[in-house]
Amino acid sequence: MRLVFLGVPGVGKGTQAEMVSAKYGVPKISTGDLLRAAVAQQTSLGKEAKQYMDRGDLVPDKVVIGLVEEKIGTSECGKGFILDGFPRTVPQADSLAGLLVGKGLSLCRVIYFVITREEVINRLSGRRNCSRCPAVYHLEFVPSKKEGICDECGGELIQRSDDRKKTVESRLTVYEEQTFPLIEYYREKNLLAELDGSGSVGSVQGRLIALLSKS
Ligand code: AMP
Repeated sequence: MRLVFLGVPGVGKGTQAEMVSAKYGVPKISTGDLLRAAVAQQTSLGKEAKQYMDRGDLVPDKVVIGLVEEKIGTSECGKGFILDGFPRTVPQADSLAGLLVGKGLSLCRVIYFVITREEVINRLSGRRNCSRCPAVYHLEFVPSKKEGICDECGGELIQRSDDRKKTVESRLTVYEEQTFPLIEYYREKNLLAELDGSGSVGSVQGRLIALLSKS
């Protein structure tokens, strides 16, 4: 199972990738998570990436391609992987294809999560992340039992700095300019499957599992 989850930031692909990863036993590779970990550890890569992330811009292709290459090469990815948030540009998609060809592999499917701009802004501005574990909440749709506290580990819930309104708007513009061409790119290769990303986490999950079990 070698999948790419494509869609605007906040469409819910990370949450769905977590679930698919648990259900099918293939790892989720999120370039956003890898970059945030590098930022938190203050590595030189993290320091470089932070400037771009804080503005809502894309981190240079070379940096993210290197991160993905390192992960895909591990035995953890023997049964496949779910790429969440990568590729985001045509050069990244070309590099991914080259990387896979070099291993005698190819992508199975690209799932394109479709949602309206209004719904995305609403989801991102209400999103809250645990400061200690990977749990993600939403003030309105997936609230924690105790306000501001993670149900899983008791950690403090925080808003990602790039989920603030101004950065969200630039992230969406960056997506429209740089990532949107990937839809046609993968459609032409007959890999694209569109999925309605609106509604609850459970309803999107149901549609996604149905789609994956068809292929
Ligand atoms: P995400 O969590 O996927 O929304 O990513 C958060 C931020 O990390 C993005 O706004 C970019 O600055 C950076 N980022 C994540 N994935 C990529 C990628 N494939 N290419 C370039 N920048 C990325």
